[in-house]
Amino acid sequence: MNLVLMGLPGAGKGTQADKIIDKYGIPHISTGDMFRAAMKDETELGLKAKSFMDKGELVPDEVTIGIVRERLSKEDCQNGFLLDGFPRTVPQAEALESMLNDLNKKIDYVINIDVDQDILMERLTGRRICKSCGATYHLVFNAPKVEGVCDRCGGELYQRADDNAETVQNRLDVNIQQSQPLLNFYETKGYLRNIDGQQDIHKVLADIEQLLGGLR
Ligand code: AMP
Repeated sequence: MNLVLMGLPGAGKGTQADKIIDKYGIPHISTGDMFRAAMKDETELGLKAKSFMDKGELVPDEVTIGIVRERLSKEDCQNGFLLDGFPRTVPQAEALESMLNDLNKKIDYVINIDVDQDILMERLTGRRICKSCGATYHLVFNAPKVEGVCDRCGGELYQRADDNAETVQNRLDVNIQQSQPLLNFYETKGYLRNIDGQQDIHKVLADIEQLLGGLR
């Protein structure tokens, strides 16, 4: 099964990606992870990617498309793959179509984990971290017993600077602007399947499994 996973920050994409690769035994191809690994190893690719990633910009399409083409031709992608973080632009999506065509493959589904913006704001701004031990909490989903105090060590809880409402809204706006043309592209192609990401994590997975059950 050849899948692309999409979802805005906070939609639960990472959680569902882990569960899908576990259940179906397909490789998780995350361009962000590939770039981070290359940066850590200080390869030529890593050095190229670093200057863009440090500024929060997209790595140029020709670089990104090249690493995905190479990765998809590997043996472990024979029975499928889960792409995550790629494609991010319509030219990347078009390049993906053509490279899959060359490999005699096609996308089965583009799974979009769909969550309303106000809920994403609540999820992304609710995180609190302990200054002393680093334990993480969430004001709504995993609240500490006493407000502002770590259950584990009694330390003071704080909000990370990039979890504040303005920064989070900005991050969401940028992501929506990037992803909307892709959602339109895949809707037109007939690949897009929206999954309700506002449900319990297990129910989200169950809906994905139901969709993928039809492929086997
Ligand atoms: P991610 O972990 O998916 O948020 O990616 C982290 C960073 O890697 C992004 O901010 C980009 O700089 C770069 N990146 C990851 N995937 C892509 C892509 N498909 N196209 C361009 N840049 C990407």
